[in-house]
Amino acid sequence: MNEDEELAVPAEIHTVCQCCGGGGMVADPKLAVIVGEPRPLDNGRPCPHCDTTGQFAGIIPPL
Ligand SMILES: [Zn+2]
Repeated sequence: MNEDEELAVPAEIHTVCQCCGGGGMVADPKLAVIVGEPRPLDNGRPCPHCDTTGQFAGIIPPL
């Protein structure tokens, strides 16, 4: 890998989702009772803003 490849600008401009940070999932902590013990559960849920893609095509400023 040379430096030119590393710093290359991607051909397709996109904006990382402001809601989930590009991960496509947002935190969704819940309280669950597992084997009689209350424990927090956080499986996350799909980002409602970008629909799990984590980014949008083009440049979209945060609102
Ligand atoms: Zn998102």
